[in-house]
This record gives sequence, C-alpha cells and structure tokens, in this order.
Amino acid sequence: LRKPKVVILGAGYGGLMTAVRLQKALGVNEADITLINKNDYHYETTWLHEASAGTMHHDRVRYSISDVIDSSKVHLIKGTVSTINREEKRVILEEGEVEYDYLVVALGGESETFGIKGLKEYAFSITNVNTARQIKEHIEYQFATYNTEEEKNDARLTIVVGGAGFTGIEFLGELGNRIPELCREYDVDQNKVRVICVEAAPTVLPGFEPELVEYAVNHLERKGIEFKIGTAIKEANQEGILVAKGEEVEEIKAGTVVWAAGVRGNSVIEQAGFESMRGRVKVDPQLRAPGHEDVFIVGDCALMINEEINRPYPPTAQIAMQMGENCAKNLAVLVRGQGELESFTPDLKGSVCSLGEDDAIGVVFGKKIWGSKASFMKKMVDNRALFMIGGASTVLKKGKFNLL
Ligand code: FAD
Ligand code: NAD
Repeated sequence: LRKPKVVILGAGYGGLMTAVRLQKALGVNEADITLINKNDYHYETTWLHEASAGTMHHDRVRYSISDVIDSSKVHLIKGTVSTINREEKRVILEEGEVEYDYLVVALGGESETFGIKGLKEYAFSITNVNTARQIKEHIEYQFATYNTEEEKNDARLTIVVGGAGFTGIEFLGELGNRIPELCREYDVDQNKVRVICVEAAPTVLPGFEPELVEYAVNHLERKGIEFKIGTAIKEANQEGILVAKGEEVEEIKAGTVVWAAGVRGNSVIEQAGFESMRGRVKVDPQLRAPGHEDVFIVGDCALMINEEINRPYPPTAQIAMQMGENCAKNLAVLVRGQGELESFTPDLKGSVCSLGEDDAIGVVFGKKIWGSKASFMKKMVDNRALFMIGGASTVLKKGKFNLL
C-alpha cells in the first residue's frame, strides 16, 4: 500500500510544531513525512532582536532540527524552496524536486518595505540568524571605525530604527543595554551616540495600552533613546534617511538603519501563484488555501480574520504554534481517512513586549503587567515555546534561566 506523502515547508514555529506533533500522532508506517528547511537548524525568530543588538550570541537562538525530530518518522531535507507546482503537486527546491499528497506551507515572514526608496539597499531587517548577525557586526564595525578616522564622522554612531511596533521596541530595549557596553569596548563617548526611533503613527506601539506605552517610552528615553512619532521614513540612502512629519522633510545622517516597520508573508506564496495579500493567504477554517484541500498554510503566511474586530489576527509565534498543532491533528485525520477535520480557533493568552534584560510590559489574560514581573513572564513565554516544540531537554539547553 502506498503511504501518503506529507511535506512540510519551513521549520520555524508553525512548521516544526506540525512535524513534532505529527510524528507523535502517527506510527512509523502510516505516512512518509518530509520536513524541508533552508538550514539544518531551527531559530527562535522571537529572540532575533537580542542577537541583532549583540546582547545574546547568535548560536543561543538556534538549535539542531535533528535534536527534536524522530528520524524514523520524519525525513529532513536541508533545502531552499523556490516555488510550488500546485497542479503537479510538487515542491521545487533550488536543489531538486519533492512530490506531495499533503503540503504544509510554513515559510514564515519577510520584511515589507512598501516600495519605499532605498530601503532594500540601505536598511537592515531583523529576519533570520544571518541578518541579525549582520546588524550586530555592522554596528560594531561603525563603533570600531569611528576612533580610527582622523576626521570624526558622528553619523557612524547614529542608529535609526524604523517602526515602534513590538519588534522595533524590543530591539531598542536591547540597544539601550548594549550601547554603554559598546562605548566601553570601543573607547567611544556615549554622548556622541544617538539612537533614534521613527514611528509613522501618532503613538509608539499603536493599539497597545496607553499606560504601558508611556511606561515603555519613559524607560527607553531614560536609556537615551529618542522618539520621532507621527514621522514616516520616506527614503533611505548611503548617508542615512529622509523622514517626513506632515509637509516637513528632515534628513537624518545615520551609519545604521534598521527597518522594523513591516512584515509580509514569504514571497514563495506569490511565486507559487496562491491568491494572497502581501504574501499571506486567506485560509479556510481548517487552515487550507482556498481551492486546495491538500495545501495547509500556517504561521506568518496565513491570514485569518478575527471576526470579533473584523481584522486579521497578527502574525505571531503564539498563533503559528497553535496553527501547527491544529494542522498536525487534521493531517492525522486525512492520513488515516477517519475522523472529522477540526476548525482552528486561536487561544490568545496576551502579549508581552520586552524592554531589555530586566524590564518589559504586557497584557496577560487581560491583566496589565510591567517591570520585573513582566520580564519574568516574557522569559517564561520564551521557555514555553522551547518546551512546546523541543520538550524539556531543549529548555535545559537553550532556556532563559536568568529569571530575576
Ligand atoms: P518562522 O518561525 O519565522 O519560520 C520560518 C522558517 O522557514 C525558518 O526556519 C526559515 O529558515 C524557513 N524558510 C524561509 N524561507 C524558506 C525557503 N525559501 N526555503 C526553505 N526554508 C525557508 N511573536 C510572538 O508571538 N511573541 C513574540 O515575543 C515575538 N517576538 C518577535 C520578535 C522579533 C524580533 C520578530 C522579528 C518577530 C517576533 N514575533 C513574536 C513574531 C514571530 O516571530 C512570527 O510570527 C513567527 O516566527 C512566525 O512563525 P512561522 O512558523 O510562520 O515562521
Ligand atoms: P508591526 O507591523 O506590528 O509594526 C510596524 C510599525 O511600523 C507600526 O507601528 C507602523 O505604524 C510603523 N511604520 C510603518 N511604516 C512606517 C514608516 N514608513 N515610517 C515609520 N514607521 C512606520 O511590525 P512588527 O513590530 O515587526 O511586528 C510584526 C508582528 O510580530 C506583529 O504581529 C507583532 O505582534 C509580532 N511581534 C510580537 C512581539 C511580542 O509579542 N513580544 C515582538 C515582536 C513582534
């Protein structure tokens, strides 16, 4: 009897969760499960702001996929997906082709620059381990170079962060801790350093609790971070950026520009011809692409509307993992040909935004938290994600235990 071929694309929160839950649900001979990922490691996307600022080594944010998958049930291919041939049910990799009966697309997000001039060429983005390393090393290079030049170029010590959403704020929190260290390491006067956050909306963290937003801004300002709110980045170039507040345009010279002001789904979604909005497919209640009963989309590539507020659920690790669990259950039903498919309902527990090593803000189970309590909660959330996918041994190897 031919076993159904299940192919999972991407080993991030959504894809790896699908793989580990499916390997638990199915016996060795029930399906051919293949997991395809660009690297042989999984990384915690939610920790990348730390690796980018240099407050955490980039090796700490990743672990070997083979540590958490059962090789008797899941075949791992290290490969890069170029596109999907939906008619022939094949995945086209840079390295070859793979056939599927059931496909899970969990390729995560990419930076969205909204066509703003120069951003692709001159700004960095916090997207994966390699872009995080690049940001960290670029900032260090600017600090190291500053003192070696006869004519001092203060712009080398200016860092612009575009966007004060969760990613921008968490990165700023880490920079707040890292800058004094960098100044000591590279003999730089901290008064020369500028970290500027540019946010287009009238407030930092738009949509979040105003009281907590105020707490975050005060905390970050105390660490020397400047905010330009109601101000949009219009262009990036070799010298820095152009911003506009209403009609007023200002040039900010900066040696480092980090764009944290937009995410989209993976461009493979468009390559493969799925109907989508910025690389996100509006999935059916069982997380399948419309018109494709055999293709599940989970994580940042999936778009689902929260009917209560008539807006899409935000692309988060919390939801990606829950989607992975739901998808694994439904794949087991399909593989066995018995049972009913379950609809996906997110179980939102809240969100916590880190402000650096020992501070954070958040709303958890409807309750506002801040300070060391919130920071403790954030580390518990991070450890929980490790546990949900990799179990206790992964928590022991990679967990955050500096809890207070
Ligand atoms: P990912 O976890 O990003 O995984 C995608 C995987 O696909 C990666 O392993 C990648 O290597 C692989 N891949 C990509 N392209 C290809 C290709 N062409 N071929 C093969 N493999 C490929 N959310 C929260 O809920 N809480 C948080 O605290 C939080 N913090 C965040 C902090 C930062 C700095 C950032 C950037 C995001 C944060 N998020 C957070 C959002 C969260 O990280 C994403 O929503 C989540 O990672 C989405 O999961 P995913 O499985 O869709 O993709
Ligand atoms: P976002 O879309 O949430 O925020 C982007 C911000 O950039 C917005 O405030 C927007 O007004 C601003 N912006 C857009 N265009 C601009 C421009 N031209 N100039 C200046 N500012 C501009 O993006 P994000 O912060 O990367 O978050 C992405 C997703 O990841 C969200 O769903 C978020 O909830 C999730 N996330 C969660 C956490 C957490 O829970 N701790 C941390 C990071 C990210």
